[in-house]
Amino acid sequence: MLQSFFVPFVILLCIAAFVFAFVAPMVAAYKVQRDAKRYDFHWYQQEFPDLVKDGRVACYQCRSKHLGVERKMNHSYVRSHYCRSCGTTLYYSKEH
Ligand SMILES: [Zn+2]
Repeated sequence: MLQSFFVPFVILLCIAAFVFAFVAPMVAAYKVQRDAKRYDFHWYQQEFPDLVKDGRVACYQCRSKHLGVERKMNHSYVRSHYCRSCGTTLYYSKEH
């Protein structure tokens, strides 16, 4: 029977939909918040003291000082500071 053949696929699809809708964003938000605590500006300054001078921050990959700020997802309240030249994320800061 065709209908019973599709039932496992429908169940799998429901599980996949659930994972993508709820679990994946939760895991992603958790990772961002964990990274934000670990890789903050203080960490960047400690790690690359010669790249942080007079309030100017340079990228550790390409040494560019052309940086941008991006809000990470809607409810994580975390901003990522990234390099506009090579796209590397440098450090995170909390949104106030
Ligand atoms: Zn760069």
